[in-house]
Amino acid sequence: MKRYVLAAMVFLLPAVVAAQTNPAARSARLWRQQHERAIVDEFVALLSIPNIARDRENIQRNAEAIAAMMARRGLAPKLVSVPGGNPVVFGEIRTPGATRTVAFYAHYDGQPFDPKEWASPPFEPTLRDKPLEDGGRVIPLPPAGTAFDPEWRLYARGAADDKAPIVALMTAIDAIRAAGLAFKANIKFAFEGEEEAGSLNLEQTLAANKDLFAADLWLMCDAPLYQTRRQSIIFGARGVTQIDITVYGPRGELHSGHYGNWAPNPAMSLARLLTSMKDDTGRVLIDHFYEDVEPLGPVERQALDEAPAIEAELMREFWLGSTEGGARSLNELITMPSFNIRGMASSRTGAQASNVIPASATATIDVRMVKGMDGRKTVQQVTEHIRRQGFFVVVDREPTADERRTHPKVAKVVIGLTGVGSRTPMDLPISQEVIATVESVRGRAVKLPTMGGGLPLLAVERPLGTRTIVIPIGNHDNHQHSFDENLRIQNLWDGIELMAALLTM
Ligand SMILES: [Zn+2]
Repeated sequence: MKRYVLAAMVFLLPAVVAAQTNPAARSARLWRQQHERAIVDEFVALLSIPNIARDRENIQRNAEAIAAMMARRGLAPKLVSVPGGNPVVFGEIRTPGATRTVAFYAHYDGQPFDPKEWASPPFEPTLRDKPLEDGGRVIPLPPAGTAFDPEWRLYARGAADDKAPIVALMTAIDAIRAAGLAFKANIKFAFEGEEEAGSLNLEQTLAANKDLFAADLWLMCDAPLYQTRRQSIIFGARGVTQIDITVYGPRGELHSGHYGNWAPNPAMSLARLLTSMKDDTGRVLIDHFYEDVEPLGPVERQALDEAPAIEAELMREFWLGSTEGGARSLNELITMPSFNIRGMASSRTGAQASNVIPASATATIDVRMVKGMDGRKTVQQVTEHIRRQGFFVVVDREPTADERRTHPKVAKVVIGLTGVGSRTPMDLPISQEVIATVESVRGRAVKLPTMGGGLPLLAVERPLGTRTIVIPIGNHDNHQHSFDENLRIQNLWDGIELMAALLTM
């Protein structure tokens, strides 16, 4: 969401600091109030280490810094990796007599960036008195013993996505121990170093170290809070399947005057093909497309009904005069697969255009996959649909001259990633327990069956046979993946309390 800053939303709640009733969270608040500067200092030190996944040297420095944070707390850290992969930083708390194990996931790498776009250098963490878009000015860290204003923002790559949960977890452990509270479960930590690069080695790393990473539940501490600032809990993510479709016209571009009305135009042909795949309301018309979608249960349906409506505000913010899906909410629509044209190209446009009939036209499609769907099967359904529109289809290769000469319509399909979606049922006892714990700290939460985008949930679930639930702590307007990424100080404070409650669940 590059620059679509949602901060202007009119429904933002005032920063109400409610009385804290969860004992671990209450201890965490007390601890935090006495140690604000030290907590932020530890965060600043971690944020000062560059964290782009391909920068191996600095990734290693991050991993070692996190291991040192863990070692200071007696968490028996280990750097775990497979050849070519960035280390996953592992740590644990063994609890005598525990009957279950809860793992906490976060990632310490961040998205690449262009430093010229940043108001302050991304790896020089900078405190501002409010968001930049509201005229935020740089301020020094307040001296130890002085309270931070909770609306201040800390600017740095990784501040929100996703080093904040690491610091929140470590601080929560300090607070729990200082208060003499007990852990009930065995606790594990797994902090990944290449999530923003696609988590290419995560599944393999976990599969090669199954016993080390085994847990009954993985809490995936990533993603921002709901747009209204309410705490959210997210039970799934969508995967991506990518397909390129090319349709062909003449061997090379032809003069549009000499041959127009005679030589078929591939751009027109592609447009017809694409409109045959999806109707005006957004419904995908490809046969069997929705067939394997695992339906939502009553608990999920009710949670969707209870989520605050954000559509009108988003439409205003994004300049949208209409939306797809009829009256259905954004949150409901993202529980379904989407069929999206990422981009299209045929010959040239505008001032670069020439009077030609193009030789080919290409569209790149992404299908956002939900639980139950299979990427290969979806690709087959799309390919079959193209055939039924009268095309001769070749897959993952160029059609030959003869194939183009002997078939009225020819299309090429190139299969990219074939991802799948995942979703943990909300009515499982463990899901209900997580909801109750989160709500005991943060009040009524927005519970979403899935997020629209991806997280490496299956990379965890598949090798370990475990469940995942996403627990966000960052502010929704944190500019993650863009320039001027920031964390609102109150979100860090809230995150520490939330993690304390989940750690003692
Ligand atoms: Zn992230």
